[in-house]
Amino acid sequence: IVTMQKLNKHFGSLHVLKDINLEIVPGEVVVVIGASGSGKSTLIRCINGLEEFQSGNLTVDGHDLMPFGKSTKALQKIRTEVGMVFQQFNLFPHLSVLDNITLAPMKVRGWNREDAEETAMRLLERVGIADQAKKSPTQLSGGQQQRVALARALAMEPRLMLFDEPTSALDPEMIGEVLDAMRELAKEGMTMVIVTHEMGFAREVADRVIYIHQGEITEQGPPQQLFDKPQHERTQSFLARVL
Ligand code: ATP
Ligand code: MG
Repeated sequence: IVTMQKLNKHFGSLHVLKDINLEIVPGEVVVVIGASGSGKSTLIRCINGLEEFQSGNLTVDGHDLMPFGKSTKALQKIRTEVGMVFQQFNLFPHLSVLDNITLAPMKVRGWNREDAEETAMRLLERVGIADQAKKSPTQLSGGQQQRVALARALAMEPRLMLFDEPTSALDPEMIGEVLDAMRELAKEGMTMVIVTHEMGFAREVADRVIYIHQGEITEQGPPQQLFDKPQHERTQSFLARVL
């Protein structure tokens, strides 16, 4: 569902992604790990066109993205088909929880309110906060807000979900409820790319873990292999610091 070949990304003179090759198949759960500044966010932001790249090939769900953000048609398609959940929940504070979720399906997909609300309620139920639908996001805990953000992304019926440190801004006691919702989603077969520091979660749900160092994929493999028998010295020293 994602094919990246020799992708290069620069911020000015800073070479942030270096010849990245990455193939993600439908249903796969990929966890990306690496030190701060290694390029994890930039990598997943390239996948939904939030960042443009300068060279290489990138195909997402059959749509080719061109360097320098030139393929606007493909960009539009990809943004409706790829869901993203950020560290900061980015909910609209002036809209109710329910309206946060129905907005995009009504606007972009052209659903009528009734259908959109029915879907939204089903999704809120699924993430365990149907009783919060009428509230403002500002009245919710961080963990609840992040589950709204997840429901909002799922309302667009994405073919691929990207997560950039979805639990990093949460109080420790709320991390579990968000990871549970993500675990469910993985079980249902959603294709997911997840940047996280939750190594226990990664070990449990990932089909593959990718370790990035200074814009390059140093090493990747199934979690058992990468966590228990890392081949590269860099991976070993990174894991020694975080595990
Ligand atoms: P963290 O774990 O801290 O989130 P990361 O692995 O996600 O780090 P990125 O955010 O992808 O790292 O950043 C990679 C590099 O690109 C860093 O050196 C960062 O300073 C730089 N960078 C990121 N965004 C921009 C930007 N908009 N303009 C210029 N440089 C940027
Ligand atoms: Mg980041």
